[in-house]
Amino acid sequence: MPADAFDTIVVGARCAGASLAVPLARAGQKVRRRTAFASTSPVRSSAFGSRTGGLPLTAALVEGNARDGDLLGVLKLRYGFREAAGPGFALVGDSGLHKDPTPGYGITDALRDARNLAKAILSGTDDALLRYWRQRDVDSIDLFHFARDMGDPSYVNPLNRLVYEHAARSPDLMARLQAQANREISPYEVVQLGTLLKLMGGALLRGNFSVLPAFFAAGKRGATVEKERKERVGLLGAMGPAPA
Ligand SMILES: Cc1cc2nc3c(=O)[nH]c(=O)nc-3n(C[C@H](O)[C@H](O)[C@H](O)COP(=O)(O)OP(=O)(O)OC[C@H]3O[C@@H](n4cnc5c(N)ncnc54)[C@H](O)[C@@H]3O)c2cc1C
Repeated sequence: MPADAFDTIVVGARCAGASLAVPLARAGQKVRRRTAFASTSPVRSSAFGSRTGGLPLTAALVEGNARDGDLLGVLKLRYGFREAAGPGFALVGDSGLHKDPTPGYGITDALRDARNLAKAILSGTDDALLRYWRQRDVDSIDLFHFARDMGDPSYVNPLNRLVYEHAARSPDLMARLQAQANREISPYEVVQLGTLLKLMGGALLRGNFSVLPAFFAAGKRGATVEKERKERVGLLGAMGPAPA
């Protein structure tokens, strides 16, 4: 899409260990909006400029346009779950579950919590409030961890590059990515083991050993998430079937 199709362009890039997004204006325009971005290292304007100018995706957008917004950083954000209900209180949305915003869904989940909590309050029992909390955890745990993965600069690694390149050629994998975006399957179920091993095998045969560290890290991470998910499913299951 040509850069002049936009009044304002928000450009994101990763450079020097940071994930960046910054609004650009067309020549002569002023942009008042500011865009936050997450960073794991001090943000340098020059690094941002050279990186966005050097990437095929962003070069066409930044060429001939001046950066008009300040570079902003969101550093040391803390994400996590809080007990969602207890004596005299209940939490919805970010107050109870704060996740990295990279994949979105924070608004969706805040609305989901509000709907489910309303039902629990109307049922009028402590048990319903506890069930609201346990269900929220089960429904949120995979995306919570995946959001952290995506927000980490290490997400752009040789293995994920391989997977996304393959997705561009594979309708099946693209459909699974779409299903994940629609929350129909877990982010950790998108790439099936057989597909992953095939991709890995191909890369290794081509002498691309750079995929190995990310492969082992992904396996370890997947196991950790699965363990935690099972624990939370167990806590919900221990409450017995939901009353009709
Ligand atoms: C950079 C960034 C990008 C994001 N992008 C997306 C996205 O693309 N899609 C998406 O779905 N989500 C996104 N999110 C996440 C989303 O914004 C949040 O998950 C969502 O807004 C949470 O809604 P909430 O109602 O729980 O909390 P909030 O939207 O934070 O609302 C809480 C409100 O309570 C007010 N408040 C706080 N303390 C008090 C007090 N003591 N008294 C009275 N009022 C108080 C606050 O001012 C605020 O208005 C993003 C978040 C960030 C930071």
